[in-house]
Amino acid sequence: MEPKEWKLKALTNIWTGDNKGKGDRLVPTGLMGSLRWWFEVLVRGLGGKACDPTAENVRCPNKDKEPHKAGHHCVVCVLRP
Ligand SMILES: [Zn+2]
Repeated sequence: MEPKEWKLKALTNIWTGDNKGKGDRLVPTGLMGSLRWWFEVLVRGLGGKACDPTAENVRCPNKDKEPHKAGHHCVVCVLRP
């Protein structure tokens, strides 16, 4: 599968907040976490499978699949910054 590049434009201010609830600066990990969460919603809403990084038995990578082969990571885990 060829990598795809997406360019997104924020239509509103982006608020990510820090551990004290302050939104003085953009926190890239918070932004990526939010994108991942919404991508999981989209994938599951369309009937696809997304792993759960917080659950031991449904977390990527799938150890039964070879790296760089289909099924090693779910489509959500393929999302990279
Ligand atoms: Zn995954």
